Amino acid sequence: MTEQIYSVDSYAREMTAEVVATDVDDGRVLLDRTVFYPGGGGQPVDVGELAIGDDRLQVVRVKQDSDGVWHWLEGGLPKVGTKVIGRIDWDRRYRLMRTHTSMHALCGVIWERFRSPVTGGNMEPGHGRLDFEIPNWDASHRDPVEQALNEAIARHLPVEVSFMDREEADLEPSLIRTKVNLIPPSVRRIRVIDIVGLDRQADGGTHVNTTEEVGRVRITKVQSKGRGFRRIRVALDDPAADRGAR
Ligand SMILES: [Zn+2]
Repeated sequence: MTEQIYSVDSYAREMTAEVVATDVDDGRVLLDRTVFYPGGGGQPVDVGELAIGDDRLQVVRVKQDSDGVWHWLEGGLPKVGTKVIGRIDWDRRYRLMRTHTSMHALCGVIWERFRSPVTGGNMEPGHGRLDFEIPNWDASHRDPVEQALNEAIARHLPVEVSFMDREEADLEPSLIRTKVNLIPPSVRRIRVIDIVGLDRQADGGTHVNTTEEVGRVRITKVQSKGRGFRRIRVALDDPAADRGAR
């Protein structure tokens, strides 16, 4: 099984690793350890490169299965036993970490105000959307929620990562609220992300260390998805994040 460095150190952007299996038909390699996030929980996969001496192979896709984390490569396929240096596209990943953390802050603010759990979500670097069941939402809520979200982020709250046993997690109401029960029963160790005092969720993704790194955010759109369901779109309030946020 691949050592998932991103799971304990989201700021690791480079690793040395060894190729432990290859799949020539599919053009992918299994590594013994990786900083590449294989996707999940609405966070897209990392892309980047593997360096072998002077050669550079582009990592165009990553996926985890029961064998570990597979990396799809362009430019060739190294043999089993080859030592590689892996580097993720850090600008993209860091923007995802900020975006992902802002999504948690939104969950916290919506829960505080409406006691509404999140029902789904997705993100791209710089923007994302979350779905909530908020029967009593109206347009006048948008600005106060955006303000509360920015105030929460500006409180410089620490974002803590911990692990707990499945039995323990299944008993915790706040984790059940965020759908720990949707995680397959075979997963026995639950990773928990805690924005202390704001939001606590079972979660496999990558986040920043404190909310101040998120910076200001904007609610770009609130859509009705019928029967009390609302889709809230959020974007990082910096110029590069605007692309594609509509
Ligand atoms: Zn998360």
